[in-house]
Amino acid sequence: MEQLIENKLIKANKVFSEWRQQPFEERQKLIRKSAEILKNNAEKFGKIITNEMNKPISQSIAEIEKCVLMMNYYADAENILSPEKIDSEFAYSEIHYVPKGVILGVMPWNFPFWQVLRFTIPTILAGNTVVLKHASICFGSGKAIEDIFLEAGFPQGVFQNLEIGHAEVKEILEHDVIKGVSLTGSEKAGGEVASIAGLNIKKSLLELGGSDAFIVLNDANFDEAAKVGAQARLQNCGQTCVAAKRFIIQAEIEELFLPKFIEEYKKFVPADPMDKETKLGGMARPDLADELEKQFNKALENGAEIIIPLERVSDNEFNPGLIRVNEGNPILKEELFGPLGMVMIAKSDEDALRMANDIPFGLSNSVWTKDKNRQYFFIENLESGTVNINRMTSSDPRFPFGGTKSSGYGVELSLLALKEFVNVKTIVGN
Ligand code: NAP
Repeated sequence: MEQLIENKLIKANKVFSEWRQQPFEERQKLIRKSAEILKNNAEKFGKIITNEMNKPISQSIAEIEKCVLMMNYYADAENILSPEKIDSEFAYSEIHYVPKGVILGVMPWNFPFWQVLRFTIPTILAGNTVVLKHASICFGSGKAIEDIFLEAGFPQGVFQNLEIGHAEVKEILEHDVIKGVSLTGSEKAGGEVASIAGLNIKKSLLELGGSDAFIVLNDANFDEAAKVGAQARLQNCGQTCVAAKRFIIQAEIEELFLPKFIEEYKKFVPADPMDKETKLGGMARPDLADELEKQFNKALENGAEIIIPLERVSDNEFNPGLIRVNEGNPILKEELFGPLGMVMIAKSDEDALRMANDIPFGLSNSVWTKDKNRQYFFIENLESGTVNINRMTSSDPRFPFGGTKSSGYGVELSLLALKEFVNVKTIVGN
């Protein structure tokens, strides 16, 4: 391992012994100060995001604003990590929550500030320190976040950005000072990193891909569902883990709903990402656009029909596509991480449920119906970390966020995230 990197790990561990002694409320003050810096410079940081991965600037600024919201949520959060007393016959009868130490974050490019901060804030508030391996195209965001923490007054070493490639993750994760890893990214990266963590008996948390369903039933508000559905598929150029990727429509409303949906969908056309009016930018890298085109062709070869063609207009830009896919098409086992949606037609609620669940992933489905009984049927039976009723998925700091099946394990956001990287220590006796 490069000496510079090892020095950072050693520093993170040294600072941990002091940082863990800081009162929870003192850590919260520094988080609030960091949120203020972000808020006052939202446009500046938004431009870093847009320059790195082509997100339309209005969406990049919204990402920064959402980070501010989340950080203030934790700055105000109740300290659920105080020692807990348990009723028993013993004099000592307590649970203590002890921070684990230095935690490695391996993060993706699609929300370059949000993903990093969503993991980091509860992790450091719990008393840990963090080293970050950001996606290779987002080192600027990683450095900016480190600078924000330093400007806010965090001790040096509580958060450090490591500019390394993914081949170096193994050696870092195997290092003695690293006590756990949180990875947001693809299934492949998640599986590899979790295997290394497992072999070294270290905790891992995985937030991976999804292919969420957006189910529209015959009593839905079609205008609203069409508008929100197009946004749910195409915001961030379709490169969102919880994007609606499969639109499961009840057969009898196909002719009513689909034209409305297509009309909304066609409002997304690629334009200059630095223009505040732009709704759709290019994909983050040309090779990702190549991959999406291959998946489009694979879907067609296996019987999918074109509703709106996926048209490549530059190295990394598309006019978004929409295809009709039948059950059994192997494309349903894959995540489409770009501006290409799938439509499936269901005869009944049971049919829609089966289709929604019949994939390897389970992140955050969305159901559109006004009927409470039908809502409960889907709430009870959908195999996903989140179920949204008459709304698109949009994570919220107050609510837990995480996946089932190949979408990963562990919880981010909410108070529960504070307990992900702590050891539970039981104290019993007289
Ligand atoms: P990715 O290729 O898996 O990369 C994610 C991070 O993992 C990057 O820092 C990458 O580094 C690193 N990485 C890649 N392969 C690795 C390996 N073998 N060992 C160690 N580290 C490795 O994913 P991405 O393309 O950036 O992001 C898109 C994926 O993330 C999609 O599947 C999306 O659904 C998922 N995602 C999930 C959530 C969620 O909350 N569930 C949120 C956002 C995104 P390099 O850049 O150096 O390769």
